[in-house]
Amino acid sequence: MARVLVGVKRVIDYAVKVRVKPEKNGVVTQGVKHSMNPFDEIAVEEAVKLKEKKLAGEIIAVSVGPAQSQEVIRTALAMGADRGVHVEVSAAEYELLQPVHVSKILAKLALDEKADLVILGKQAIDDDANQTAQMTAAVLDWPQGTFCNKVEKTDAGLTIVREIDGGLETIKTKIPAVLSADLRLNTPRYATLPNIMKAKKKPLKKVTPKDLGVDTSPRIEVISVEDPPVRQAGATVADVDALVAKLKAGGHI
Ligand code: AMP
Repeated sequence: MARVLVGVKRVIDYAVKVRVKPEKNGVVTQGVKHSMNPFDEIAVEEAVKLKEKKLAGEIIAVSVGPAQSQEVIRTALAMGADRGVHVEVSAAEYELLQPVHVSKILAKLALDEKADLVILGKQAIDDDANQTAQMTAAVLDWPQGTFCNKVEKTDAGLTIVREIDGGLETIKTKIPAVLSADLRLNTPRYATLPNIMKAKKKPLKKVTPKDLGVDTSPRIEVISVEDPPVRQAGATVADVDALVAKLKAGGHI
């Protein structure tokens, strides 16, 4: 495979307690720690592993987002990607950017860059959409291997073990294809300091959705964003009998 395209999204860090804005039209992002979407670290790792096994040539890390998205591209470059493409949208546009827009952007880049494989995370942990890989495959009319647990290159293409409800499913696909990385696919490496320094010198190209001919005007309007309901206080029961009696009485524990 000559080229692998990897999608890396900048999201609020998984360890941050997300707060709803007082206007209830989104969540607070200013002054909040952001990082690469955790599933995208797994996607980058898989691409780097393919390259290390000499099964892939060049790895291109793509992020669609505001100026700060370049930080996650640099992380991907420090993990082993060769070059980056930053598709810049404003912070305001980013809030309403949907998987359909990102899919069209990634599909166009995959064709322009003559990629043989697109590897994305199974899900971005901010909007939890789980749509981009599927839609990118649809736009390209390429086969898709979603929720990858294991990926093996064969002469005919790829053999993929997928995580499905209650077990694992093995499928074969031809190349080019779109994959999405699930949690157990691999353990992503850390970017070491020397590699972070080296990554600063790797090429990073900036384009806009317009350059790629993709219209990113919002197709949704956010009506309101609410905090999840606060958990009611629990109660302690003396023993199992008391618990069973309470459950039988239909009481809340
Ligand atoms: P989603 O469909 O939004 O849950 O995202 C699934 C995957 O698509 C993510 O894990 C990323 O690999 C990719 N992706 C989504 N949004 C972006 C973005 N703005 N920039 C780069 N990759 C993205």
